[in-house]
Amino acid sequence: MDDDHNSRLGSHVPPVDRLGRPLRDLRISVMDRCNFRCPYCMPEATYHEGFRFLGPKERLDFDEIEQVARMAAELGVTKIRLTGGEPLLRPGLPDLVRRLCALPGIEDVALTTNGVLLPRFVPALRQAGLRRVTVSLDSLDPVIFARMSGGRGSLPAVLEGIDAACAAGFEGGVKINTVVQRGVNDMDVPDILARFRHTGVTVRLIEYMDVGNRNGWDRADVVPSSELRARIAELWPLELLPPRYRGEVARRYRYADGAGEIGFVSSVSAPFCGACSRARLSSDGKLYTCLFATSGTDLRALLRGNAGDAEMDEQLRTTLSRIWRQRTDRYSEERTRQSALLASGEQAVRQEKIEMHYIGG
Ligand code: SAM
Ligand code: SF4
Ligand code: SF4
Repeated sequence: MDDDHNSRLGSHVPPVDRLGRPLRDLRISVMDRCNFRCPYCMPEATYHEGFRFLGPKERLDFDEIEQVARMAAELGVTKIRLTGGEPLLRPGLPDLVRRLCALPGIEDVALTTNGVLLPRFVPALRQAGLRRVTVSLDSLDPVIFARMSGGRGSLPAVLEGIDAACAAGFEGGVKINTVVQRGVNDMDVPDILARFRHTGVTVRLIEYMDVGNRNGWDRADVVPSSELRARIAELWPLELLPPRYRGEVARRYRYADGAGEIGFVSSVSAPFCGACSRARLSSDGKLYTCLFATSGTDLRALLRGNAGDAEMDEQLRTTLSRIWRQRTDRYSEERTRQSALLASGEQAVRQEKIEMHYIGG
């Protein structure tokens, strides 16, 4: 479908972008702060004590988040993921979960967290209707864990968080996200897999990405999924599973011995922009159409303007629809070309990307 087609149908009709992709997922960064300092995301050198995070009034409040989510649902969003920064640092998060779960059209509300605060919040989150939890865990080796969480995280606390999530019986289950960096934690992957085989918890191995501008990303630090998969298959033979829906981020495999599933997120070696249906809302209310965006659209100004309820809804709906219809993002597919241009000194393409803790991972 083209832009002309979209505009003829108007803003109430679910928009498709310029590459024919619908809007289905909304990731909401509810908190730009974090209690970890993972060097691949929020390196301590930048995010030190003097770093200025958003103030409470600068962040969207729950009414504002709900309003954006409601309009996004009218335009086709069915899934919402709450993320950050560390989303569990946002006071009252279960209340937001409850409000989002109640929105017409929203079928699935999920959370990505570093897990430390989960034991405290799991019962309230479960009761509020949260369907799925993803906990990030990069190593079971305390030294490497400490290195990869910037010295702030506590491995026993994260494991306790995972246990609490498993015990709560979330409908959509519990997943682990493991970012794999060559020479840092790639050797720890089998330990993580061994721990969660036979537990029903799916581990998703994520290629280290060049998000933001501050992690000093180097392609040499990426372990391509194909290499990792071959290493794992020597220990436990794997069988490819079919995708459950178009645009599924992870390629899923099952252990041939029936011990469960494992996923590979290969955004660097095998980009999946072609089916990307995700928009992101930052903590301060900017809407981004790609994880690697260099600019977004300020919805907070609109939300805090003088329009009445109905007028505001219409403005939001029209704005979201217009932004999505104009979307052409396919950063991961273009990464190789961009990297070559940068290496050749082409300054024109060197634009600052939005940092991940702010835009939401
Ligand atoms: N603080 C929460 C957490 O760590 O789960 C939620 C936010 S975090 C930005 C969301 C996910 O992004 C985490 O699973 C994290 O491992 C992943 N992530 C952060 N930086 C990354 C990078 N450079 N490459 C790949 N994944 C990354
Ligand atoms: Fe915090 Fe998550 Fe980023 Fe680590 S990956 S610094 S836990 S936001
Ligand atoms: Fe989607 Fe952008 Fe990631 Fe491609 S690079 S999959 S468009 S978020």
